[in-house]
Amino acid sequence: MASDPQLDLSFLTRLGVDGTHLSGTSTGRHTLDPATDADSPASLRSTTPVDGSLIATVASTDRSQYEEVVARAQEAFRFWREVPAPRRGEVVRQIGDELRAHKDDLGRLVAYEMGKITEEGKGEVQEMIDICDFAVGQSRMLYGKTMPSERPEHRLYEQWHPLGPVAVITAFNFPVDVWAWNAMIAAVCGDVIIWKPSEKTPLCAMAVQGIVARVLERNELPEGIFSVVQGGREVGEFLTTDERIPLVSATGSIRMGREVGRTVAVRLGRTLLELGGNNAIIVSSQADLDLAVRAIVFGAAGTAGQRCTTTRRLIVHEDVFDELRERLIRAYSGLRIGSPLDPETLVGPLVDADAARAMQEALEQLKASGGEVLFGGEILDGEGFEAGNYVRPAICLAENDFPIVQEETFAPILYLMRYRELNEAIDLQNGVRQGLSSSIFTNDVREAEAFLSARGSDCGIANVNIGTSGAEIGGAFGGEKDTGGGRESGSDSWKVYMRRQTNTINWGRTLPLAQGIEFDV
Ligand code: NAD
Repeated sequence: MASDPQLDLSFLTRLGVDGTHLSGTSTGRHTLDPATDADSPASLRSTTPVDGSLIATVASTDRSQYEEVVARAQEAFRFWREVPAPRRGEVVRQIGDELRAHKDDLGRLVAYEMGKITEEGKGEVQEMIDICDFAVGQSRMLYGKTMPSERPEHRLYEQWHPLGPVAVITAFNFPVDVWAWNAMIAAVCGDVIIWKPSEKTPLCAMAVQGIVARVLERNELPEGIFSVVQGGREVGEFLTTDERIPLVSATGSIRMGREVGRTVAVRLGRTLLELGGNNAIIVSSQADLDLAVRAIVFGAAGTAGQRCTTTRRLIVHEDVFDELRERLIRAYSGLRIGSPLDPETLVGPLVDADAARAMQEALEQLKASGGEVLFGGEILDGEGFEAGNYVRPAICLAENDFPIVQEETFAPILYLMRYRELNEAIDLQNGVRQGLSSSIFTNDVREAEAFLSARGSDCGIANVNIGTSGAEIGGAFGGEKDTGGGRESGSDSWKVYMRRQTNTINWGRTLPLAQGIEFDV
């Protein structure tokens, strides 16, 4: 347990994840027995970024437990696909209500196990609640089209059917809501869900599964509608190589996405990939700098730079460059860095000391390319920072084509660069392999529209006078290029979780063929 004796950890008990060695593998209401003891190499160590101490060990899912999970998921699917979609929506509504009741505790657990500040942890749970509400409405809107048939007395239409067991593989930095984005929509579509959370945040998944299990039990629903398997890459590969899993939704690094994409493609399965970003904000000479500064600081330093949508590059018009740089340095100087559980903190720790070392290496590479660190970047030491994973967010001078600027370093580093003409700024913004989120700050409608036009941003998300991070659930979320091309959450993302069937009904007494073909026998 964490070394701070003042720390109130009662939320672990209320969420049912207190204990030293836990089994996180579960189908619906049943937790499968731990297959390993705490010292086994197959156990995951859940440590808190607050001070690096061990919270608990969690048994990794072994092959036989995995087989049990898939068998129960298949059995549950045979039942769930027959339940009317609005009734499935009612179950999701109840999950949303349970999440409302546990919002504070689950938000604290997210902060404790992942390291984001508690306010953002609770925001993540709010996003789960929002997607539940969205999914309830969606459950009555799984629309198919009716098309005019070219043949007389024929009806041509399409309908959508559930796919089967859907795998959801998630990253450490959004340990609960990315599951909800996928699972709540997939559930109203009639799919059953097998979740493999990050090996760094197994307890968050266990707590969510406990919340869901209560709803399943109350409604006497079969086990296996929602299951969890725990482990690292090997357990992820159980899912990606498994022909019984028609869709794998995977969120994480580009490296992971390439592996998952290849493996699932070989068996002609489907993937939904949500991978790394390298997001930029363009600040025009026509920008409201007050707005821009607030958005940049939240986007670049918030969540300690550990969002896929974190602002990593700032492309600034030369007329406002000096002023913006000074204002940012002033704002960064006032950022309160500390425990994510302290309500005064704005910047919490990185997930672990390795991430802090990776940030140092990135800054060294930047300097070797000719860049300059203007502010921050150091690993903090002293009381409360002994774990070596607290850093001061960095502001740097850089060029877009430096190798390190082309990469996503999962830490709070903001690279500043100048531009003169808007086209040049858009080329810089688009001049990376990733394509997740982007924005422009300008009060000039021509600049804004050019940025949003076909010759503008090439990202999945393009904003005006809003930063790159903090998307709403109502829109489709995802990115282009190396970010993977997937879309989840709102809009018509539900279609990814279903299979489309085209139906033609002949209600006449003749058999006209399409395209007017004559084939008399
Ligand atoms: P990661 O790639 O290390 O791991 C992500 C998940 O994939 C984990 O559950 C891991 O166990 C699993 N995994 C890894 N290799 C696998 C394989 N070969 N087969 C199956 N599963 C495998 O990522 P991370 O460090 O946990 O998260 C940070 C990354 O995630 C960043 O790149 C960030 O940008 C990205 N991310 C993207 C989005 C998005 O929506 N685009 C959202 C959150 C995070």
